[in-house]
Amino acid sequence: MIDGGADCAPRGPAVAAVDYRLLFESHPDPVAILDGAGAILQVNQAADTVLHGQVPCDTAPDLVRLGIDPDTFVELARRAREEGPVSWEFACGDAAPRQLEARLLALPLDDAARGAYLWVAHDVTERVHLEQARQQLVHMIVHDLRVPLGNVLNSLDLVLTAWRERDVTLPAEQVLDIGLHSAHRMDLLINDILDSARLQARERDLVVDEIDAAALLREAVEALTSSAERRGQAITVEIMPDLPPLVGDADLLRRVLVNLVNNAVKYTQEGGRITVRVTVDDDAMIFAVADTGRGIAPEDQAHIFDLFYRGGARRAKGAGIGLAFCKLAVEAHGGRIWFETTVGNGSSFYFTIPRVLPERAIYKVEDGS
Ligand code: ADP
Repeated sequence: MIDGGADCAPRGPAVAAVDYRLLFESHPDPVAILDGAGAILQVNQAADTVLHGQVPCDTAPDLVRLGIDPDTFVELARRAREEGPVSWEFACGDAAPRQLEARLLALPLDDAARGAYLWVAHDVTERVHLEQARQQLVHMIVHDLRVPLGNVLNSLDLVLTAWRERDVTLPAEQVLDIGLHSAHRMDLLINDILDSARLQARERDLVVDEIDAAALLREAVEALTSSAERRGQAITVEIMPDLPPLVGDADLLRRVLVNLVNNAVKYTQEGGRITVRVTVDDDAMIFAVADTGRGIAPEDQAHIFDLFYRGGARRAKGAGIGLAFCKLAVEAHGGRIWFETTVGNGSSFYFTIPRVLPERAIYKVEDGS
């Protein structure tokens, strides 16, 4: 016969009581129990941490700390009882504001004084930030694509109308040039967005080849010459004689240069000067794009390579993608990118591409066959 003895004593309720208390206390989400009148009976550790001191407790009624307007508690409680859990979002905290999603559930207890409602909150700050960033990005991309797309449509429309009406007075070459330039801008933006994501995830292979650095630089400058001319800006190209071939991904490096020259044009006043230079030392090829523009404000300097960051020129066209792409593309080659700036006097952006790429940078070598 098996004697259960003391081990078989009914210990369930006592253990359960302790466990439930522990569960309540150690639950990572803030939890509170309210009575039928909306008084807070208990809060767990997480609720205490998140809510305590966020709003001065001595001046604010308890319900306010839970994101509930005391005047609407009766209605909120009725809905929780009759329709099921009610949820809403609210902000708390001054120094480090957090966004909480709260839910109010009616507890199936007869004794309302012991607890009639369960309030549970979940910190959704990260989700809210991500959603805001996503909306901002969509807004910026739509804006950045809509303007050049409008130019492409207008120039095609003008040329087509002139052709139909046999109008030979239209400066078709200039009109098409504007359209083409705008189409290139859209192409650049889309590719920068796609490649930034791929480079970040290391999903973009470098297509490494021997490149003529001087030709690459001239090509990038040529793409921006008409924009600079329209703004009365002069672009000077300085190429060190006898440059050795550059080893790297031509498509990525051309777009790095186009982005830097494009920024120099965009952030330099009419009539300003832009200098683009390539030199070489024992270790690396060094590119520089200098302008006489407005410079970069101190508060922006630490952030301009961040994805989607736009500096003091928020009103200017731009999605804050160009420099983030440049950094990712240069670093994928094992190089470094940096700038020097004086507010009101201009900025110089530099980047290096090592003469011998680190092994990790070489994902794929074009064999030309
Ligand atoms: P975008 O130009 O689309 O805003 P970028 O990533 O190319 O995005 O640049 C980020 C920010 O850096 C810009 O918004 C601008 O404030 C600043 N910036 C970049 N290049 C220059 C420059 N040559 N002169 C002054 N500010 C610049």
